[in-house]
Amino acid sequence: MTDAAPIDVTVPPKVNLIGLSREQMEAYFATLGEKKFRAGQVMKWIHQQGITEFSEMTNLAKSLRVKLEQYAEVRPPKVTHKHFSADGTRKWIIEVAPNAMVETVLIPDGDRKTLCVSSQVGCALDCSFCSTGKQGFMRDLTPAEIIGQVWIANRSYLDDGEFSGRNADGELTRTRALTNVVMMGMGEPLLNLDAVLPAMSLMLDDYAYGLSKRRVTLSTSGVVPMMDKFTQAIDVSLAVSLHAPNDELRNELVPINKKYPLSELMAACKRWLVHHQGSEVGRRRVTMEYVMLAGVNDQPEHATQLIDLLRDVPSKINLIPFNPFPHAPYDSTPRAQIIEFQNQLIRAGYTCTIRATRGDDIDAACGQLVGQVKDRTRRAERWQAQTRSNEIIRV
Ligand code: SAH
Ligand code: SF4
Repeated sequence: MTDAAPIDVTVPPKVNLIGLSREQMEAYFATLGEKKFRAGQVMKWIHQQGITEFSEMTNLAKSLRVKLEQYAEVRPPKVTHKHFSADGTRKWIIEVAPNAMVETVLIPDGDRKTLCVSSQVGCALDCSFCSTGKQGFMRDLTPAEIIGQVWIANRSYLDDGEFSGRNADGELTRTRALTNVVMMGMGEPLLNLDAVLPAMSLMLDDYAYGLSKRRVTLSTSGVVPMMDKFTQAIDVSLAVSLHAPNDELRNELVPINKKYPLSELMAACKRWLVHHQGSEVGRRRVTMEYVMLAGVNDQPEHATQLIDLLRDVPSKINLIPFNPFPHAPYDSTPRAQIIEFQNQLIRAGYTCTIRATRGDDIDAACGQLVGQVKDRTRRAERWQAQTRSNEIIRV
């Protein structure tokens, strides 16, 4: 008997179509020898109808469906827990690998339904007031895992049956559920820009979520070189986690400031404004996020410095009440003092809002995506015990 050469039985991994931008999807369909418009049809099934089975994509030829089943898949991230709060806030815990979890939070406010999306498991930047920073960096999310969070939230509305009828192709249409997306969950999106960009392009794409560029926001702590790359690559809204009006204090709160100080950060904001202002009728502004830490950055002189700093950077300021977490070294500024700080900025001519904190009962407000990931399951069980009127479901 002769030794036969070992047969290679490895099956190539299937392409996960959920994370492909329109260009990538069209390129993929070209490799299958299919027409471009098929890419758009499949995108609509996935992102607008929440469908994952090719067999249910009824406007595709049987032969194409069989081909897709062989080589591709639509695999949203794995939800391990979900919690729907009485105030309409919805929260999902997504496991991307054993012990690697991120949270996605949907916060309704009148007609507006804002989804807070994560970009990384953990974060390397270690801002002193941030619970995600305290857990360190674990890994980047893939485009499929980022847009998958939007898919999950959208799908939950589809499951509610919020349909308004059928379009000319017989597809179900519905009142648009999700209105805003903010990249303000776990992680620093500019340190995972290669994955964030295709995901954001799907948020804007009419074949996917079709959100307006003003309602899709990237939030950064100020990774200046990547800000320029982002400015050139996509047109969405920009929020900057400022949190301090001078370098000395910002070095302490947002350590990346030591590498890219305020002068460079402000210059990058101006480049973003100049780049996107051009053809615009309405004025674009940068949202400056400012977390209010008692006795640290919330004094009248800080407001005065802020007024000077932002004088020639068209911006609106969003004051964020600090969300405490276990062992946090800060307290939140009392409400009345936040309002005083706001009034000082308003008197100087700035638009200044105070972020409403919602979903507090389930630890769900943005920036409150707590760090002890390994403790998630126990936390989830605690919520279950604590919240009788709300439903937490282990999926
Ligand atoms: N890394 C990005 C985006 C994620 S953080 C960034 O820093 O911008 C999203 C927002 O939540 C940021 O403005 C961040 O500063 C804020 N944040 C983080 N921890 C917070 C806390 N404990 N309380 C209130 N806001 C917090
Ligand atoms: Fe990272 Fe943003 Fe938290 Fe800073 S605030 S540690 S950049 S997630």
